[in-house]
Amino acid sequence: MDVPFFDLRRQYQQLRDDIDDAVADVLATQHCIGGPHVERLEERLAKRVGTEHAIGVSSGSDALLVSLMALDIGPGDEVVTTPFTFFSPVEAILRLGARPVFVDIDPATFNLDASRLEAAITERTRAILPVHLFGQICDMTTICDVADDHDLAVVEDMAQAIDARHRNRRAGSWGTTGCVSFYPTKNLGGAGDGGMVFCDDSELAARIRRLGRHGAQPKYHHLEVGGNFRLDAIQAAILNVKLEYLDRWTKRRRQHAAAYDAAFESVPDVAVPTVADANESVYNQYTITVSERDKLIDELDGYGVGTNIYYPEPLHTQPALNGCLTGAGDFPIAEQTCEQVVSLPVFPELTDDERRRVVDGVIGVFG
Ligand SMILES: *Cc1c(COP(=O)(O)O)cnc(C)c1O
Repeated sequence: MDVPFFDLRRQYQQLRDDIDDAVADVLATQHCIGGPHVERLEERLAKRVGTEHAIGVSSGSDALLVSLMALDIGPGDEVVTTPFTFFSPVEAILRLGARPVFVDIDPATFNLDASRLEAAITERTRAILPVHLFGQICDMTTICDVADDHDLAVVEDMAQAIDARHRNRRAGSWGTTGCVSFYPTKNLGGAGDGGMVFCDDSELAARIRRLGRHGAQPKYHHLEVGGNFRLDAIQAAILNVKLEYLDRWTKRRRQHAAAYDAAFESVPDVAVPTVADANESVYNQYTITVSERDKLIDELDGYGVGTNIYYPEPLHTQPALNGCLTGAGDFPIAEQTCEQVVSLPVFPELTDDERRRVVDGVIGVFG
């Protein structure tokens, strides 16, 4: 039995009729940009996340970029973020000419260590950009307290964490904006790129919407330089279908995670992911920490079990950051974590038998 790390075809097979109908509706009406599917998705997700506004955008990366643009982040500004995540957050900061300032992570949750935040704030700091990694929200209580004390914006990267909760409140409802991605492998994924920005402030929401339409208001009258950051109607139509299933899928991810937790409890070589007391994870990834990672990956591969490394290299040592006054050794926990993490299959359509095979494979190496 081969166990894939991820298999999107299984999800499509289950929803095929509804998805095909939704796509056919967009094609029949040719309302391809904006329109009723996009508006419906924005309304449903704003309500779900718990914000006044939701603006469909072209990707999770663009959700971050347009948020920072709308907050007027630019040269001379500093944005505090994590060195252990996908490149997008730091890329958005750098593209606007601002400087990313990293704080090391909490090795238990993989998220930025909020207790180190205060020390990273300077008079140039304008925003905090926490990333809710692998489906677990950051310590938003502390992050929002620090932000309030220093009058900073908070841009939540919730690309991997739709429906994740901290003290029973959802990701995306804590910050100045929340930025989600609909990349196909996220918990709510489209059939291509897409994203959404959540916020409560009406003026900020209007500006984000306008920036995503070339800064124009009305059309062809450009108040500022923006870009094309719109969400496609076909993606919105598909996402409206999939949203019906999100609770079920999250439940299934949690079942897989609980089974892995239980199975690896007695395996000292495997550190399972820790969920902080006040948090509920949506397990976009189930990521374990092991010292002999390459051996584990090789043996699982031989056993037919797919794995992935998120992330093999921290952000502060990336060549693209040249000149950001950080380097190897600066964030030792993030660096060590990059060498020890491996993610196991946790997608909702994974079967119990497949999951058992993953467990057998891991225990075969370390047990
Ligand atoms: C996927 C991801 C993004 C980028 O989203 P895209 O839709 O691919 O642009 C940003 N941040 C994190 C943490 C992600 O996992």
